[in-house]
Parts: sequence; structure tokens; C-alpha cells
Amino acid sequence: MKLQEMTWEDFETADKRVGLIPTGSTEQHGPHGPFATDLIIAEEMATHAAKETGALILPSISVGISREHEDFKGSLYISPDTFRAQLKEIILSASSSGVDRFVVVNGHGGNISAIYEVCKSLYIEYTTIALEWTWFNAISARNMGHAGELETSLLMFLRPELVKEPRDPGADTWGHRLHGTRMDYLTSSFTENGIVGDPTKATAKKGEELFDRATEKLTGLIRELYDSDQDFLSREPDRS
Ligand SMILES: [Zn+2]
Repeated sequence: MKLQEMTWEDFETADKRVGLIPTGSTEQHGPHGPFATDLIIAEEMATHAAKETGALILPSISVGISREHEDFKGSLYISPDTFRAQLKEIILSASSSGVDRFVVVNGHGGNISAIYEVCKSLYIEYTTIALEWTWFNAISARNMGHAGELETSLLMFLRPELVKEPRDPGADTWGHRLHGTRMDYLTSSFTENGIVGDPTKATAKKGEELFDRATEKLTGLIRELYDSDQDFLSREPDRS
């Protein structure tokens, strides 16, 4: 169920054990992919997992930490401070309404560290349990790229009408490294068309497989949260 489609009376009796917050971005995904790619993937995965488990879907954060794409016009971004504040306050207000535990269902790499920081501080300051979950890390995806084979395959499975042709290959890697450090603050410095990876290899079938693998992980995590009545992030070390 989506909180935004409920009334306050519906909410009183709703299952509030786990709330899902989809987070994505509004950023260029090459000449073939829509700005909302990361958000679409996160929302579709959250919707599927909510149907399987009964988890509550909270409002999405649809503009993320994406300033690295600013040279590709139309890409929008908010600062890490704004993102962290928005996520933290959404979770705290939902928590004060009785939502017990949270999973942030994320589709954008640039959001990961901010989500983790918020979840960590919520636990330490308020003992609120919120977890960062990013689909491509959950399945240990290799060669993630950007608007490449993986994301384009997911789009072709989920929203094929939004994938444009032709699909051209992009840069081979996300930026470059120098003496062990990353040298890549702006995507325009290492990809001309905005893509990293090869979207010509994308198929709807591959997208379906990725979707199934990722949502299996997400539903497993939600069920784990339902099952564990104790605080499994407890400060007490497990001495058993
Ligand atoms: Zn993306």
C-alpha cells in the first residue's frame, strides 16, 4: 500500500511494521534513457516488494545527489545536506506516526553515502532502525556503468516505451584513477554522450532477471525485519 493513496483512517489499521522509501535521481541517462531512470527502477522494486510482503510505501525522493551530471542540461540535483535533511525528517515523521522500521530503496549511486549516514545517525540518536538498500549492490552487480547494459535492460523490462533508439555505447569506465585515487568529479570529463557501458547489449529478458534477483533480496530483507522482534543492531555484542 502507498501511504499517499491512503486516508488517515486507512492508516490507523495499515501494516506499519516496515516503511519503504524509494530514492532515485533526475539526471541524464544518455541520449536513449529518461531522466527518471534511477527513480523508476527504485519505485518498481519497492512496489513489487510491497506487494509480496505488505510493506508500506512512503513518498519517494525523486531528485538526488547528482551534481556530477550538471553539464548535461535538464539534470537536477539537491545538495547532500538537503538530501540528508529530507530523508531524516521523512523517516522521523513516519516514525512518530507509528511506522516501526525503514528500508531506503535506492537506485542512484550518488545517494548511497548520504543514506548510510542518515540511517546510522537515526539509530545512534533515536534507536530508529532504517537501512540503506541499493539494488545494484544488493546483487553485487558488475560493470554497473551508467545508462549501460544493466540499467537499460531494467528499463526495457519495466518501461520499454521510454527507451529511445539508437542506443550507442559510452565510455568504458566511470572516470579514471591516478595513483590509487579517483579523478572523476564530473561525468562530462569522461563520457561524451553521458553513458558509461554498452546499452546495445541490453535486453528486456536481462532486465527481468536483474529485477527478480534484486527484488528477491529486498523481500528477504523486509521479511527479516518482520521476523526479528529484537533490536538486531543492538549495542550489545553478540557473545553467543
Ligand atoms: Zn542511473
